[in-house]
Formats: sequence, C-alpha cells, structure tokens
Amino acid sequence: MEFYLNILKQNGYKLTGKRKLVLEAMLKNRRPLTLSDVQKLCVNIDFATIYRIVNLFNELDIVHEVKLFDKQQYYEIMKDDHHHHVVCQSCGKIDRVDLCITQKVSKLTSYTITNHIMEFKGICPACK
Ligand SMILES: [Zn+2]
Ligand SMILES: [Zn+2]
Repeated sequence: MEFYLNILKQNGYKLTGKRKLVLEAMLKNRRPLTLSDVQKLCVNIDFATIYRIVNLFNELDIVHEVKLFDKQQYYEIMKDDHHHHVVCQSCGKIDRVDLCITQKVSKLTSYTITNHIMEFKGICPACK
C-alpha cells in the first residue's frame, strides 16, 4: 500500500478517500478487473469516478491494462509482479501464468521490447 501511496504523492496527487478505497479493493483482488468489477467492489462510488480513478492509476503505472479474449478492458495491480493469464473457455475462470518470454523475444530479434500482449486460452482442470 505504502509503495502505491508514494507514487500518488510523488506525482502531486492527494490520497482522497475514494482513491484509497479503489486502491485497497484492487490490492485485495489481484486479478484482472473490469471497471464494473471495480465498482462492485466499491459500492459507494459512482462509475464516472471509478473510471477517472482507474485511468489515473493507469497513467501512473499503478495498474496495468490486461487484454483477455473477450475484448473487455481489464486492469490489474501487478507492479514488480509481472505475469500473464490463462482463461478457461468453458467456465471463464482466469488463472495467472508466472511466465514471460519478453527476454527471449528480445534475444531472438535484437529488439528492445517496450510492450507486449501474451494471453492463453484453454480448458481448466475442473472442466476437463
Ligand atoms: Zn473451467
Ligand atoms: Zn510478460
């Protein structure tokens, strides 16, 4: 929590009660969340405010945009905890994948990789 509060402070943003609620909710639920998921976790905050706060967090790199297969925009706190996701095509469960091949791609292509999207789809053990 402290780490993220400092990012806000360093960028000149105050920790308002609402920002704190959204931050706490996203820290407690470390999985990809849509804006409406976040709103469900913070019932007393209206959608427009959720939108503004999550976008601010995104600008400040407190949250990252996560793309899955359903075209929805997800956000997740994953600073210093980089990972990807696998989605069950049967029940919709999302699991994390603690693997990234960015360095391999960089080595193979001699590119400096600045951004990437890597997503997996499959059938989870429970649905098999
Ligand atoms: Zn499943
Ligand atoms: Zn990665």
